[in-house]
Amino acid sequence: MVKRAVHPLIPQEKPSDAWIQQWAIAAAHCDVDDCLRALHVHIDDVTAVHRPLCVASGRCCRFREHGHLLAVTGLEALWTLQRTGRTLHADEAARALDRGSCTFLGGTMCTIHGTRPTGCRTYHCDSTARAWQEPLAESVHTTIRTLHTRLGIPYLLAEWTWLLHAIEHARDRGLLGGAHGAYYQRDAGV
Ligand code: SF4
Repeated sequence: MVKRAVHPLIPQEKPSDAWIQQWAIAAAHCDVDDCLRALHVHIDDVTAVHRPLCVASGRCCRFREHGHLLAVTGLEALWTLQRTGRTLHADEAARALDRGSCTFLGGTMCTIHGTRPTGCRTYHCDSTARAWQEPLAESVHTTIRTLHTRLGIPYLLAEWTWLLHAIEHARDRGLLGGAHGAYYQRDAGV
């Protein structure tokens, strides 16, 4: 049995190397790309209807300060890292984990806006958004979970900074081939 830490989105045990490798390979697959990009369009469409207030404060990305956790699957985390083409190092990811804010936050703006995870897209600090954002997030997550089942890959939903740290720690050990292997979209043969 996997022991849990204080929050269910922060497991005590890091994902195994085999799981991370499976996510990296699957994240480069066109089925995953198509599915996630379709979800992004769907989220944009729903959001455009409701027009939540956003003043680009960056609060939603400063998790500890805002009292918010961003939940991301391992598959989506690898998809995001592959598309951004950005290389983090484990110590950079560790600092983000320690301070409780996203490593991709630059000032008050997201530096990977086009490839940010679905959880970033469905969450709004505007309290009037709660009535529709929670069902939207739930339906998006159900689709992503179903994708895991269809592809036969392991499923893990975890806190974003914890997950990035686990992945980058594995990459620093050479699991994903450093700057090669299945870490980057181009190297995965896409
Ligand atoms: S990926 Fe971008 S939008 Fe999402 S938490 Fe990080 S900085 Fe914020």
